[in-house]
Amino acid sequence: MYKFLLATIVFVGGCSHAPETGRSQLIMMSHSQEMRLGQDAFTEIVKEEKLVTSGANYEMVQRIGEKVALASDRMYPNAVRGYQWKFALIKDKEMVNAWALPGGKCAVYTGLLPVTENEDALAIVMAHEVAHVIARHGAERSSRSMVAGIIAGVAMDEMNATDRAIVLGAYGIGVALPFSRTQETEADQLGLYIAADAGYDPREAIPLWQRMGKAGKKAPVEFLSTHPSSESRITKIQGWMPRVMMYYDNAVAHEAAVGNIQ
Ligand SMILES: [Zn+2]
Repeated sequence: MYKFLLATIVFVGGCSHAPETGRSQLIMMSHSQEMRLGQDAFTEIVKEEKLVTSGANYEMVQRIGEKVALASDRMYPNAVRGYQWKFALIKDKEMVNAWALPGGKCAVYTGLLPVTENEDALAIVMAHEVAHVIARHGAERSSRSMVAGIIAGVAMDEMNATDRAIVLGAYGIGVALPFSRTQETEADQLGLYIAADAGYDPREAIPLWQRMGKAGKKAPVEFLSTHPSSESRITKIQGWMPRVMMYYDNAVAHEAAVGNIQ
């Protein structure tokens, strides 16, 4: 019976491929289901939080959000179709974190800002979060949990009840269900492409992850939960740099051409 159910769900959900890396993924949730969950979750989460709605930091988050959203629309139009982007700044100086949900609802915690230090680095973190969404890592993660549940004999009804919590956890909110290392590396790569295409200096990634490593020694940081050491992460970043710099150089040239350079 369970085997039959599993086969049905795998057939319905099917296998898709992560952008850029081409890694095959098992995803048993439709795009619209995922977006609905993301939108509901955003409303609920921000209701409980203190939001910053003015000032230089708020303006910076809005500016980055706009550019990152435009770059995502340009680079991965199918993945973000129908998204209505929103970038909240949540007042919580203890949280060194940011997240993005399917549907384009994202948040940054004020505790992240002393670690990112500058706009380029914050853009790299925000684009990393958006990349998790573009590559559908939360849906993939929850699909794996569903398969595990079915194999373990958990009734489908119960699975539905916990579905939402699993998806939220999978996006780094609430229940601690970290992304896998593979997913984190994928988000680093895609995130850098997006940040560079948005006109942010990708070379800031290296000092950023070094600072993040130091911050992680004092308090738990989401970005480090399943990550390899900063050194191996930086080695990977250097490998992607030639292509990343191509995106960045194009973005800078474009900005100069439209007379919009800062
Ligand atoms: Zn991540």
